[in-house]
Amino acid sequence: MSPEALLPIALEAVAAACGITRAAQQSREAFSSLTKDDRSPVTVADFASQAVVSLILQERLPNPAHHALIGEEDAAELRTPEQALIREGIVQLVRRWKPTIEESEVIDAIDAGNSRPSSAGFWTLDPIDGTKGFLRGQQFAIALAWIQGGHVRLGVMGCPGLPVDQSAPLDHPDPDGVIYAACENGGTWEYPDCDPLASPMRVVARAPGSIQRIRFCGSVEKAHGDRSQAGQLIDSLGGGEAIAVDSQCKYGLVARGQADVYLRMPRTKAYVEKIWDHAAGSIIATEAGACVSDINGKPLDFSCGSGLPENSGIVAAAPELHPKLIDGIRELQLGPKI
Ligand code: AMP
Ligand code: MG
Repeated sequence: MSPEALLPIALEAVAAACGITRAAQQSREAFSSLTKDDRSPVTVADFASQAVVSLILQERLPNPAHHALIGEEDAAELRTPEQALIREGIVQLVRRWKPTIEESEVIDAIDAGNSRPSSAGFWTLDPIDGTKGFLRGQQFAIALAWIQGGHVRLGVMGCPGLPVDQSAPLDHPDPDGVIYAACENGGTWEYPDCDPLASPMRVVARAPGSIQRIRFCGSVEKAHGDRSQAGQLIDSLGGGEAIAVDSQCKYGLVARGQADVYLRMPRTKAYVEKIWDHAAGSIIATEAGACVSDINGKPLDFSCGSGLPENSGIVAAAPELHPKLIDGIRELQLGPKI
């Protein structure tokens, strides 16, 4: 199927997941007191988000070849008696979307995210990207992409707390949020209010000549990227302003020109990036005119299963800046030392 034919289905699925994950973030204290575990809100919301996306894909694309899904979550542990409270929390959340759904349907739908990668095409999903941001009450994303023949053909990313207004602060979630969508060769589109029926606005990365002081974004979590290397690189190009934000919504900031670059300087050689952390975001940035590669300038290789073992880190940047960053990384000999 063409990416254009899949787009409305992906939008419907991500919008539904935005609704329930936002509700879960707002009531996260109730979930953690229920299970006396601070990680449980994210667990419940992660699984519920994966279930909803998986169910919508199955319903709208009944041919199994069209709804094959590689999701971050796995329901194996959920079936044990000790997980009864978590299971109940997940089903309650999914029932906000479909009140009549049975527990077994929910668990089976989560398990459907265990497909094998196939060159004929598959979906990949991060049901809650930026889990730490979700728990802190800050930014997170729902990232869904269609990969075919080793290339991302479609990406839809829901950012339930990202304001449309680029001057609004990013550290408090916006009540309405946005969804980004991009089909191969079709540009990148921003749907306000996480509403797939709203008129989308086309977004574009910063145009050549328009960058004065580099705005560079990276993870809030120190373990996820080497900030000192990122700072060194930007300083070598005249300095800039750092924006720390959780989740793949960093690709959205580059796509809409709010940031000039998303830098993910790897801390270790051993860490292999996951496809669901980059598939949707990378096409959203590329279709907006940005350049996306690893820190050595190599295109991201989505043909290796659930990881990106052929790549190291990420540089997603406005086209004017991208070659300067790659040259700078090489000249300063940056990159993981261990
Ligand atoms: P961010 O929101 O940029 O902090 O990225 C969140 C993602 O970082 C998670 O979805 C994880 O898959 C990923 N992650 C976990 N550990 C690491 C690590 N050591 N280096 C880079 N990324 C990581
Ligand atoms: Mg993730």
